[in-house]
Amino acid sequence: MNKIFSTILFLALISMISCKNQEKSEVITKTEDHKHWSYQGETSPEHWIEIEKNSDCDGKRQSPINIIDINTISVDSAETLKILYTPETILNKVENNGHSIQFNFNSGDSISYNNEIYHLKQIHFHESSEHIVNGVKYPAEIHLVHQSDSKKLTVLGILCMEGHESQLFEFFESFLPIEGGQFKKIDKAIDLLNLFPEDKSFYSYRGSLTTPPCTENVSWIVFKQPIIISLEEVLKLKDNMPINNYRNEQPINDRKVYYNY
Ligand SMILES: [Zn+2]
Repeated sequence: MNKIFSTILFLALISMISCKNQEKSEVITKTEDHKHWSYQGETSPEHWIEIEKNSDCDGKRQSPINIIDINTISVDSAETLKILYTPETILNKVENNGHSIQFNFNSGDSISYNNEIYHLKQIHFHESSEHIVNGVKYPAEIHLVHQSDSKKLTVLGILCMEGHESQLFEFFESFLPIEGGQFKKIDKAIDLLNLFPEDKSFYSYRGSLTTPPCTENVSWIVFKQPIIISLEEVLKLKDNMPINNYRNEQPINDRKVYYNY
């Protein structure tokens, strides 16, 4: 009897120790878990520099900015940008990366900017817009991200205002909903040239990524003329992204902003 009792006591002790170990390892897992940036609460843009300590998020050439027309320098140089997309850009996949809805493209499409080639990598969306023009914030902004062979970036920003529906947007949104962290394979051709506003004049300045690590290696091009998408299209986008997935305007500091017409 005594032997049985001591065996039970021994087993109980073992299970207590293993339970304790489990608790300990759970705590370790939690403390090692990297706090990820977001658009809300303790990990919102104001806290990015605390979360991403080696980032440029507190730099002097950050994006987005408020573009004030009368402060821009007008230059007759809209032709420094050439959009060299084929009519059949291959959409590879669409993903919800937890920060935005992002469409990735096969290589082959590019732009030429200041005589340098940049390859189209991906496009993604912000709701509402990140860039502000003359104090006006738009319902959405599309970013078309391009990278040169030397890893420099040129991002084209297209502002969206509300009106009639856009056929291209209907096509983009036909792949939604997509849950955070998931993606869908597409492999379909689209004519991305339809996405651009008719008037190709643009604002340009030197800035950064608008998400951590906020790297200051981006040539920004923001088209002056917004494109038109419907309220339903804006709302569908909103439903599939974190609420308010935009960063607030950053100080211009000593940078020049150009208006290329
Ligand atoms: Zn963006």
